[in-house]
Amino acid sequence: MLEQPPAFPTTVRQPALFIGHGSPLNAIEDNPFSRAWTELGASLARPQAVLCISAHWQTQGSLVTAMSAPRTIHDFYGFPAELHAVQYPASGCPELAELVRATVGADAVEPDTRWGFDHGAWSVLSRLFPTADVPVVQLSLDVFKTPAEHYALGKALAPLRRKGVLVLGSGNLVHNLPLACWEERAFAWAERFDALVRNSITTRDHTSLVHYDNLPEARLAIPTNEHYLPLLYILALREADEDPAWFCEQVTMCSISMRGLRFG
Ligand code: ZN
Repeated sequence: MLEQPPAFPTTVRQPALFIGHGSPLNAIEDNPFSRAWTELGASLARPQAVLCISAHWQTQGSLVTAMSAPRTIHDFYGFPAELHAVQYPASGCPELAELVRATVGADAVEPDTRWGFDHGAWSVLSRLFPTADVPVVQLSLDVFKTPAEHYALGKALAPLRRKGVLVLGSGNLVHNLPLACWEERAFAWAERFDALVRNSITTRDHTSLVHYDNLPEARLAIPTNEHYLPLLYILALREADEDPAWFCEQVTMCSISMRGLRFG
């Protein structure tokens, strides 16, 4: 009898990406950010599936989406009807949800059938994979985990990169919404913090980025950490031979860093 081939055979290493997603309008506006994401997408070998860690899905305990047809969630207010009408029809991938659980431990991540794609995921994915032909699974941010625990969970996901899975973190490494403005400029402290994070990544100083609380001006740059935490997952997935390739190196709206990086 023939054995069934594995659902996720071993492949060459897939990239791990962190994208600063900024305003939901980037999903429909033609601007330097959306153009850079489109270019990035065009440069990628097609993965078998995407595992996305978005700032916009916070839960009690870690969850992974396990439905086969996720809905597009419009989790914002006051934006144009055109944005509310966007649908991202990629399929889910219950097999990947199971693989995630098998990889990190079934007790560590529970399957979810209620979420879908939040705008942190679809605003970026609709540029990376505009035909929505790559299945996508989301992994939530557990509000009870410390940054070090998020980083450790990221480490545990490492085998997925060699099973055809592209891991995408979607957040912003500087994100202060109360101080944001609808202007194309940057506060000096936001640019300083952005540069400090870039430097720490370049010198592979992940420890100070996990313990970001001790960094100067962290309270301004990371008043709440949901947009920063996806970065820790991507840093955790970095392998010894990998240096970051940067894209969108810009702080916009006064207090939002759009910086993106790619490993692999
Ligand atoms: Zn956001």
